[in-house]
Amino acid sequence: MKNSKRFVALLMAGVMSTAVFAGCSAQNNTEPVEATTQSVKSGSIDYMALVNKTHALPDNWEKQLKTVHIKNSVGDDVEVEKKAYDAYLKLKADLKKDKIEVDLDSARRSVAEQQRIMDDFTKKYGADYAAKTVAKPGYSEHHTGLALDLYLIINGKDVTENEDMIKYTKIWATIHKKLANYGFILRYLEGSEHITGYGYEPWHIRYIDDVKTAKEITDKGITFEEYLGTASGKKVTIDYGSSKLYKKDDLESAVIQIKCKFAFYDGFELSAIRYAGDNYATDKKLNEIKKADPKSKYTDIAKFLMDFRTSKNTGDTKLKPDTDYKDYECWLARTKDDGWEVLDFGG
Ligand SMILES: [Zn+2]
Repeated sequence: MKNSKRFVALLMAGVMSTAVFAGCSAQNNTEPVEATTQSVKSGSIDYMALVNKTHALPDNWEKQLKTVHIKNSVGDDVEVEKKAYDAYLKLKADLKKDKIEVDLDSARRSVAEQQRIMDDFTKKYGADYAAKTVAKPGYSEHHTGLALDLYLIINGKDVTENEDMIKYTKIWATIHKKLANYGFILRYLEGSEHITGYGYEPWHIRYIDDVKTAKEITDKGITFEEYLGTASGKKVTIDYGSSKLYKKDDLESAVIQIKCKFAFYDGFELSAIRYAGDNYATDKKLNEIKKADPKSKYTDIAKFLMDFRTSKNTGDTKLKPDTDYKDYECWLARTKDDGWEVLDFGG
């Protein structure tokens, strides 16, 4: 039971947990500005391949992939790429020496499986909702078989829920220190949401089959994207201003959603996000938004301003290529039960 809930939560890219921890909603209702297609050249997969919101799984990947199936401690079948699994077993044994017990919650998910989920959600809830909640097939690192979601076993008990796991900061810190020794990196770093497109996930690790490179990435404290040069590590300045309407937590989770959205634009460089102020969060504006989307149940809105530079390819957006934008408006809204949603961006 616990697991089916967890499974859905994973597929939904964290949208349900926005209130509890800083996950990102899938938000692929905007067409991403994508990088060029990659493909698998020879008989083996490229362990350094980048798969994210703008880089699709390379062509032919699934044909070349060699995997193993295992059963985890809660009885689920987990499929993992062969070498990644061998490395994981060594990591697991090493952690055991520190009395830390981990298991695999989820690893490989095929493109077809993700498509099936997307179709299912579309049928049940409509295309808009499906696009907002389910990760786009082809653009999840879990397709590679090299991305592993760990869970913790604490005093013999399985701790599988994200909001429970995130509390064990000391244990995660020990795990993270050992990853590179076995060719793994931590993938979704805190504060790098505009690069990775995901909120901080201490459990999501990625096998790159190269201890030296894994150590370099870890020591530099950078994302895989920055290492590969598809994103700059430019610091983003955040100004929450002062608000009587919203607590710092509310504004922080709004900023994370803006940053996550940004990851859909390959090569764009974000430099600042500012809260525009309470005087924009009016009932009049809220009603305007509700009028444009009568089915929405929004109760709060907020306006932010962003500074960023576009890349050479701005896709379907109305933005000019290679251009600096200052004070670019970004509106967010939320309902009582769900987290913030970015309403328009680059349109
Ligand atoms: Zn994951």
